Amino acid sequence: MSDHLHENCQALLGTLSEYIDGELPAELCREIEKHLEGCDNCRVVLNTTKRTIDLVRVPVDEDVPADIRERLFKRLNLDEYLNLKN
Ligand SMILES: [Zn+2]
Repeated sequence: MSDHLHENCQALLGTLSEYIDGELPAELCREIEKHLEGCDNCRVVLNTTKRTIDLVRVPVDEDVPADIRERLFKRLNLDEYLNLKN
């Protein structure tokens, strides 16, 4: 299958934090997992994001580099997926 679109990556990356938190509907989780199976890029980002979220959840702010936080928060604000859905 070669139906991989970069648009999907963008949308997916915007939902990663919710996906990791288990806040997405099962149907959407399945879509994401399907995409991850065929997309090394997104898998790498998922793993990185997971690790970053674990980091920022540690209640010791000094241990979290500011740029990592900033990048994560930017990612959390991505809402391309919602735009695609509407
Ligand atoms: Zn992808």
